[in-house]
Amino acid sequence: IQRTLSIIKPNAVKKQVIGEIETRISKAKLKIIAMKMIKLTKSQAEGFYAEHQDKLFFDKLVNFMISGPIVVQVLEGEDAINQYRQLMGVTDLSKAEQGTLRADFADNTTENAVHGSDSISSAEREIAYFFVDSEIV
Ligand code: ATP
Ligand code: MG
Repeated sequence: IQRTLSIIKPNAVKKQVIGEIETRISKAKLKIIAMKMIKLTKSQAEGFYAEHQDKLFFDKLVNFMISGPIVVQVLEGEDAINQYRQLMGVTDLSKAEQGTLRADFADNTTENAVHGSDSISSAEREIAYFFVDSEIV
């Protein structure tokens, strides 16, 4: 059993597709064990994406992530990290498989609707970034 951090990004919240995303998560047998809607500050967004701070897209990414509310949640299940990445589809939109969250809800490579942790260590870091133990049920 594994845990992963999921973010429904500002463009997806604006499109009112939170419900549709949750439906797909439950169909994939991933259990939501923590969830909240928040608006990131600039420094929170910069800290979350610190590994990308030298990339050309960093400022665009941070400004997008603070452009509106997001939904952060912890998902638990068998192989949760890879399972959720498969549900999301790949980063490069032109390659995102039909029926994935990004194929259906991304607007471009930055405004790509969802985030999911990419490893066990990043999942641990990212979950602790947003949740204290008492918020995970
Ligand atoms: P995430 O970490 O959000 O799940 P990811 O692991 O598929 O996405 P990363 O390489 O970690 O992709 O990039 C983090 C985020 O930065 C992406 O989700 C996207 O919003 C943005 N991003 C990544 N690559 C690019 C790019 N080439 N141009 C613009 N934005 C990008
Ligand atoms: Mg990533």
